[in-house]
Amino acid sequence: MAAAAEGKAEGKGAGSKEPERKDFQATGKMKEVMGKYFAELGAGPEQGRKTAWCTSVGPAELLRALGFNVHFPENHGAMLGSTRMATDLIPLANARGFSPDICSYLTSDVGSYLKGESPLQKMGMSGPPKADVLVFNTNQCRDVKDWFQFYSREWNVPCVGVHTPRAIGELDDSIVADVAKQIERLVDPLEEVAGQKLDMDRLREVIDLSRQCTELWKAVLETAANAPSPLTFFDGTIQMGPAVVLRGHGDAVDYYRVLLAELQQRIVDGVAAVEGEQYRIYWEGMPIWGKLRNLSTQLLELGACVVASTYCNSWIFDALDPANPFESMARAYGSIFICRSDDFKEKYIEEMVGRFQVDGILFHDAKTCPNNSNSRYEMPQRLQKRLGKPYLIVHGDLNDLRLYSEEQTRTNIEAFVEQLAEG
Ligand code: SF4
Repeated sequence: MAAAAEGKAEGKGAGSKEPERKDFQATGKMKEVMGKYFAELGAGPEQGRKTAWCTSVGPAELLRALGFNVHFPENHGAMLGSTRMATDLIPLANARGFSPDICSYLTSDVGSYLKGESPLQKMGMSGPPKADVLVFNTNQCRDVKDWFQFYSREWNVPCVGVHTPRAIGELDDSIVADVAKQIERLVDPLEEVAGQKLDMDRLREVIDLSRQCTELWKAVLETAANAPSPLTFFDGTIQMGPAVVLRGHGDAVDYYRVLLAELQQRIVDGVAAVEGEQYRIYWEGMPIWGKLRNLSTQLLELGACVVASTYCNSWIFDALDPANPFESMARAYGSIFICRSDDFKEKYIEEMVGRFQVDGILFHDAKTCPNNSNSRYEMPQRLQKRLGKPYLIVHGDLNDLRLYSEEQTRTNIEAFVEQLAEG
């Protein structure tokens, strides 16, 4: 999984006229909030603050409560994808021994490290700050652990984590108890690196902020249930930045209050993200970071709005509860879509299709992320049978654009929207 980042324009040729994309006034504030986060991250080592690297649904609340600056490498991976630096950097990691078939966040991030090039250099940082400790959760995939162990060996720093089961049907008490215990066991080694003891009141406070962030982010995404929708999946991939890197921090809570108010006003004013919205699509799977603009433009031109996605919803952690820190973290991290069974996933998508009045489902089969590609074991066909909604499978990748055919995808999307029109 990953994170939000802004890509450079993938613009068409000079003189071409794109339909109007509606920016959010709140985006200025988001840039401030994200800028502050990165400035603090960059300055941390000089100021004597420790840095922890954390997977997207790792125990970020615990790390923040222990006073770490928290870096999310998947966010860096998404930035490498959206700036299109990834495709040139991946081969360096391949030459080092990481297969081109594994997670392209991993290979682009390792390539970035080996070459010393990063989009963070535009923000005055030399690259991601060196970790004092790396903390993973395998709820999403094994790749994150391998990724963090690489840096652990490079820098001779500890790598610790949580092994969460995958393909969970019912998240029963025994799984929650086991994962909660694993998270609790991280406290001693993390206190040692942090040089301070965990203050349980501070942990509760951070979890409370994380919970507030979750509720607001969920409310932001829910506004798309309105027809016409005031935002698209493509807006969401940018707007999710604070939810990804600042959960457990008041800045994210403040930001989403502002964004939510703007979206609610759009609904009152009848402002549609896609002017003349005619079709509503669900996006299943990873974004194609280097092609977000092209895809959003094509869909805008076709009057199709991607109103909901598994991806943006992955940063909703309903189970977080400050009264019950470790158990609720375990429940929240073990509830996410990616580590659930196909039965669970199908019910989830069915519910989303109903709630967001979806006309068709677009599955992205990301070649280097089998973990977040759900079209490989007949799910689209089963859902079509059950829901009677057309589907399209787009073959591509989150970061490695050598695995993506722009021409073929454009043609397939056009045909898909024609099918929706006939439906
Ligand atoms: S393999 Fe997939 S789930 Fe794992 S880090 Fe990469 S993109 Fe995320």
